[in-house]
Formats: sequence, structure tokens, C-alpha cells
Amino acid sequence: MSARPVVAGNWKMHHGPDATASFFRQLPDLSRAQARVLVFPPALSFAAARESAPAGVELGVQNVYWEAQGAFTGEVSAGMAAEAGARHVLIGHSERRHVFGETDEQVALKTASVLAVGLTPVVCVGETLQERRSGRLEQVIGTQLDAVLGAFADASAAEVMVAYEPVWAIGTGETATPADAQEAQRFLRERLAARLGSARSVTIPILYGGSVKPGNAGELLAQADVDGLLVGGASLEPQSFAQIVAAGG
Ligand code: PEP
Repeated sequence: MSARPVVAGNWKMHHGPDATASFFRQLPDLSRAQARVLVFPPALSFAAARESAPAGVELGVQNVYWEAQGAFTGEVSAGMAAEAGARHVLIGHSERRHVFGETDEQVALKTASVLAVGLTPVVCVGETLQERRSGRLEQVIGTQLDAVLGAFADASAAEVMVAYEPVWAIGTGETATPADAQEAQRFLRERLAARLGSARSVTIPILYGGSVKPGNAGELLAQADVDGLLVGGASLEPQSFAQIVAAGG
């Protein structure tokens, strides 16, 4: 775990503006927590989150399109996210890849567009169960990571984050063991170091995501290369999210 772990809540398509305001009203005081706290509400709830989130909670969006503007009905750009007050953008979440068919090439374009406006990309990688069982874990997550390393290298002074989220552990109740998470995340760190240098690689938070709960957050964060957690289901409820934040010290 890094000195200041990152605990990020990905609300997916949950919590409209009213539920967002209610979440932050009920969220216990986190001002003494060690962890950096990030929340990714749905885009339409972003303004409500900005109004109601306590100081110290950093807000992000769950997706952007890579063009700055234009005839792209339904999309928002990284520049719009920045103007609305976002600091981070989730990119390449497995639901984007598997439900919406997002490719590594699109993930790379999105990452570059986010870096171009000074926001932090949180790039998600992860293997399916079939890929893991067929011994392709490193090939799959290595290829997904490689797609954004050029953008990471070009923005050498920018903050970037990576999230390892095994697809089989997302929303299933199946968590990777702390040792599984550590093994995959050490591999990602080594790959970052090989391309960006080891000095930069240790400054890039690598988060683990996949059925994180208050009961397993501490042991996951205790792993050397687990710098934080990306939490889906358990981030929707203020008490359980606060307990996970507290696991970061
Ligand atoms: C996620 O959506 O990024 C996630 C990890 O979900 P869950 O915690 O519900 O598995």
C-alpha cells in the first residue's frame, strides 16, 4: 500500500441527482482519513455531487469521447468534464469494453484526450475468467496497458492511474485473493517501469477493483503493489464506502 492510498467509488448507472445529494448528506466525516477519496457519479449527477460532496472528495466522470466537440450525440468530451469540475476520468472499464465494445485503440484515444485537458485518466485493465484459465492473464492485461503507455510517456509530468479489475470479480462477489491481486499488479508495475522508468512507475497508483467490501479492503491494501481500491457496489452505500476508506488508515 502506498503512504496515501486511493479509494475510488464507481457508481456506474446508479444514484441520480437526488440520491447523490442524499449519499453525501449521509457520508460519515472522512476528513481524518489517510486515503484520497474519489467518486465517479453518473454524468447527470455530477452537478449534484459537486454541490453536495464535502471538501476533500475528488470527483470524476465514468467515460468521455475523445473528440473535443461535434456531432457525437450522447457523448461528452474531456474538456466538458474538466469545465464541469471533474479531476479524473475512468477509461476502459470492463463494462465499457465488454458491454459497449470499446477497443484498446479507443481507450488510447480517450486517454490522450483526457491528458490533453489536464485531467487524470484512471485506465482499467483486466482479464476474463476464460483468459485467466487459459494462462493468458499477462498477455491480456499487458496488451491493454501497452495501448496507453505512449500517452502516459508523452505526458511525462501528468498524474495517471491504472486499475486492475479482473472481469470475473466485478459485481460477482468473487474477489481475487490478495496474492492474485499482488501478482497481477506487480506485473503491471514492472511493465510501467520498463516503458516509463522505475522512478515514474512507483508514482503511478495501481488500484485493485472487483467485489471490494469493508471486510476485504484492508488485506488487499496491505499488498505492496495495491495502491488503492476501485469500488463498485460497496461504494453506493455511504457507511460501507466510509468503512472501505477507513481501511486505508
Ligand atoms: C467496478 O465497477 O469497478 C467494480 C469493481 O465493481 P464491484 O466492486 O461491484 O465488483
